Amino acid sequence: MSDFSVNQPNSMPASAFTLRRRVGVIGGGQLAWMMADAAKVLNLDLIVQTPNDRDPAVAIAAQTILAPIADAKATAQLAASCDVITFENEFVDLEALRQLAQQGVCFRPSLDALNPLLDKFHQRSLLKQLGLPTPAFAAVTAEEIATNSFQAFPFVLKTRRHGYDGQGTFILHSLDDLAAILPRLQHVPLLLEEFVPFEQELAVMAARSVDGEVVIYPVVETEQKNQVCRWAIAPAEVSDSVVNQINAIAETILTSLDVVGIVGIELFLTPSGTVLVNEIAPRTHNSGHFTLDACQTSQFEQQLRAVCGVALGNSAMISDGAFMVNLLGYEQSHSDYVEKRHQLASLPGAHVHWYGKAESRPGRKLGHVTVLLEHQPNQTIRQQAIAQLQTIESIWYGA
Ligand code: ADP
Repeated sequence: MSDFSVNQPNSMPASAFTLRRRVGVIGGGQLAWMMADAAKVLNLDLIVQTPNDRDPAVAIAAQTILAPIADAKATAQLAASCDVITFENEFVDLEALRQLAQQGVCFRPSLDALNPLLDKFHQRSLLKQLGLPTPAFAAVTAEEIATNSFQAFPFVLKTRRHGYDGQGTFILHSLDDLAAILPRLQHVPLLLEEFVPFEQELAVMAARSVDGEVVIYPVVETEQKNQVCRWAIAPAEVSDSVVNQINAIAETILTSLDVVGIVGIELFLTPSGTVLVNEIAPRTHNSGHFTLDACQTSQFEQQLRAVCGVALGNSAMISDGAFMVNLLGYEQSHSDYVEKRHQLASLPGAHVHWYGKAESRPGRKLGHVTVLLEHQPNQTIRQQAIAQLQTIESIWYGA
């Protein structure tokens, strides 16, 4: 496995122009699928490790290794056919991968960077250690919660590992809520967290190169329903001071972990204007999907640039604003919703991305729509976005 880091595309060794580079991607969902265009631009082959041959990225991969994400033997196979390995899914077996790293396999971000991010308690502990603001938290078990008759409602319980899209996050308002979930959480390591009555949820994507250059995207406002992202608006309508705080947080996280790659950072903005970090994802993220259509360099291209040692691209937007609406499954179905997609694509400024999943289930991310916006005399970007995203949601989910 060779390391092919270069500072500038122009300074690549001659061989780099003739050799098509191969990037291994652990995970073959929509995040890997959306790397396809960037891989073409950068002249890369993507080799994907994913469990199911119907996973979205199988269609765009030069080669697929059909295996679970945490199967380190399969990752050894992946390593044998690529130059660097990156992640679209971080639910790996880190200890097993360490052997591969010791044998010279190049993971970007490194396993050391991933290590404190895979467990929500470790993540919060890291943030605290770095002096970054985060909700109050403690590691607990369901048994401890039950025996201490913990009653400081509302509060939040999260499974420490493998949570995503709100799976494993429980916002508890009453003893009844608690009684309903505790039996399911026996013997599962948990994070107990203060409930933050946030005014807005914000997110930011930030990338770091092999040389330590950091590039940060515009901060976005996101909205979650049932703990799943519904939409994101870029840029968020927040003060410069909030943006500066968030940029400083992003820079600290990337630099202190020595990340090479991209991270998504989710944050809460409290009514008093304080920013708290909710979560760090060591990869591309749903809140950065708008960058595919609305930024000079998409988050997917940025990740590939970073992990291949190519200079990072410009993260500036190409429009005054943009918003992204997730197309979430709302029924059990095998439909590909062609008519609705046509209707959505005919909206002015709309770009529809459909992940080609074979099956729809309630809450499943099936695709997204991004709409680019320009300043209007009597409406802010946010006002335009809210009005238009309601149109999109009513086309998609029905009135
Ligand atoms: P996941 O890893 O599954 O995405 P998150 O920790 O991001 O879980 O939580 C999902 C959503 O739940 C958040 O976007 C937010 O809306 C809500 N949430 C999570 N933690 C808190 C909290 N401490 N206070 C209030 N809401 C929360």
